[in-house]
Amino acid sequence: MSTLEGQVAVVTGGSRGIGRAIALALASEGCRVVVNYHSNATAADEIVEEIETMGGEALAVQADVSIAEQARLLIDRALEAYGTVDILVNNAGITRDGLLMRMSEADWDAVLDTNLKGAYLCIKAVQRTMLRKRAGRIIQISSVSGLRGNAGQANYAAAKAGLVGLTKAVARELASRNITVNAVAPGFVDTEMTQALGLDLVTQATAQIPLQRLGAPEDVAAAVVFLASPQAAYITGHVLCVDGGLAM
Ligand code: NAP
Repeated sequence: MSTLEGQVAVVTGGSRGIGRAIALALASEGCRVVVNYHSNATAADEIVEEIETMGGEALAVQADVSIAEQARLLIDRALEAYGTVDILVNNAGITRDGLLMRMSEADWDAVLDTNLKGAYLCIKAVQRTMLRKRAGRIIQISSVSGLRGNAGQANYAAAKAGLVGLTKAVARELASRNITVNAVAPGFVDTEMTQALGLDLVTQATAQIPLQRLGAPEDVAAAVVFLASPQAAYITGHVLCVDGGLAM
């Protein structure tokens, strides 16, 4: 039997990149997966099909996690379809890079709203179900940028550092109810988000990585599956770097 057989997972931003790999990995461990997306319905439908072809169950749900009503509806759809939520992965994220001097308030707000407020809203929407069950796993996708800072990413680094604080505070609040709350901090992972940086920046970034390669989305997904698994039952409030050694 797979380690997460029958559990229900919600993966925000599960339609592409790291979220897609997380959705597939959780499904292959036996989870029924709610694949949230923002705008790309075709990509989300493809993941659902892929999971169904593997013999699993999945559902694509459109929601902008930065909007309270939509975050609530996302969790409500999961509850209607599968009756519960055991695992929440707050993966949805965007970048709007630029030096602080030139960073617009709109770019600051968009990044904080999606990456940080979105996680808060989804945790809020799901916590009652987990509290009642006295079980649950909540996993944030932070970033090495939030641990070390990164020039040109003041908004993104602030949001990702905020996720670390959110993780630790909520881990303390929910620990007595057997709900663990952890974060994964990827370094540079090969997705559309990093491809947008351009080849020169990616080559420079790779040169700083002790393991000398970009991460694959599956590297991050494996850490999420571990944190969701029974083997990680005694781990909470932790930030697990999946970064080829970049942050050490
Ligand atoms: P990506 O390829 O750009 O995918 C982003 C995903 O988030 C998409 O599924 C997108 O849905 C969804 N999304 C964006 N805004 C949303 C919103 N408001 N509500 C719901 N979903 C939304 O990104 P990625 O590289 O896989 O990154 C995934 C996570 O890992 C992010 O939190 C990112 O910050 C973090 N991370 C990435 C790296 C990296 O090197 N790639 C490193 C560290 C951390 P649509 O396609 O429908 O818009």
